[in-house]
Amino acid sequence: MDIKLADRVAELPPYLFAEIDRAKNAAKDRGVDIIDLGIGDPDQPTFSYIIDKLDEASRNPAYHRYPSYQGLGVFRESVARWYDSRFGVKLDPDTEVVSLIGSKEGIAHISLAFTNPGDINLVPDPGYPVYNIGTLFAGGSSYYMPLTEENCFLPDFDAIPADVLEKTKLMFLNYPNNPTAAPADKAFFERVVAFAKKNNIIVCHDAAYTELYFGDDMPVSFLEVEGAKDVGVEFHSLSKTYNMTGWRVGFCVGNADVVAGLGKIKTNIDSGLFEAIQIAAIEAIEGDQSEQAALRDLYRKRRDVLVDGLREAGFTVTSPSASLYVWFRVPKGQTSSGFAKELLDDAGIVATPGNGFGPSGEGFIRMTLCLPEARLIEAVERIKAAKLV
Ligand SMILES: *Cc1c(COP(=O)(O)O)cnc(C)c1O
Repeated sequence: MDIKLADRVAELPPYLFAEIDRAKNAAKDRGVDIIDLGIGDPDQPTFSYIIDKLDEASRNPAYHRYPSYQGLGVFRESVARWYDSRFGVKLDPDTEVVSLIGSKEGIAHISLAFTNPGDINLVPDPGYPVYNIGTLFAGGSSYYMPLTEENCFLPDFDAIPADVLEKTKLMFLNYPNNPTAAPADKAFFERVVAFAKKNNIIVCHDAAYTELYFGDDMPVSFLEVEGAKDVGVEFHSLSKTYNMTGWRVGFCVGNADVVAGLGKIKTNIDSGLFEAIQIAAIEAIEGDQSEQAALRDLYRKRRDVLVDGLREAGFTVTSPSASLYVWFRVPKGQTSSGFAKELLDDAGIVATPGNGFGPSGEGFIRMTLCLPEARLIEAVERIKAAKLV
């Protein structure tokens, strides 16, 4: 039998991290003590008060059956209460909230609900790869909006051609940003709402990092801006905030028609989210937040170790105000992948070449804060010793 992949799979863009993965594994096999600053996955355990709640809820047979498609009522009400207390945003839990099996699931599926073959989605470049892949799976095409340092890693809407805008259905945004760690303020989101209204574009804001901030300025929600709910939705995740990446729990909130469209896709593909996990998620977002504050402190200390060390080694680095990432330029004359290779060969350090996140990431490298401080100190020592700049 001749087993052939569907075109949508066969035509997936090449996996740009394959080369660095191969080099990493080869170095490991040689016995090199690798420091992996490529991982964007929290190293700390889920807070114990959340695990305790799952333990209790998982023993309740009421939660063992097929879950409700849009999420438990109590979960959606809890999300609405949290949006009100954290952002001052009012949501109708019945129509403006849907649970997700991790926010990646919703981000990947939303194009199926709104993007027709031939339609265009606006995608940040560099960006989280799922925006583009979800677009391609729906038969649409992505128009990359370059995020440049000169523009504070915000897209320039005036640079998008009119014939692109005519075919545009959705726009993906993500602040605090992965991979650049850039923040966005309310004034930016006001421009987003005006632009979306004028061009009839649905805004999909990925807010995975709003709770991982290091200063006094708390990141804003896109939905805080007047009129935002008319044009779009926000995706949220418990993954990074509560060390829950393995649990798969997130949600999409905002415009009722957009939430319903995404819900329609989901009712036909999945059967919702284990209800005991939803009960534990309520505990996560509405329980004692002191562990989350301590987690922010932990990341802030790691950030300072890494940023200070990189600066001492001769790199020009902007200290991130939020997210799990440090994004900086590779030395003059080097490419992203060339520098990633050098870091691995000369210092035993894995970092992610910026071009893997899109063409505008060329010339940058991304390091994460998901290793203990001692390992970051060791990484910095090695980078200094290798004289890479
Ligand atoms: C980690 C991450 C997500 C995915 O989170 P899950 O809820 O675990 O699926 C979404 N967007 C960005 C930008 C991320 O970095």
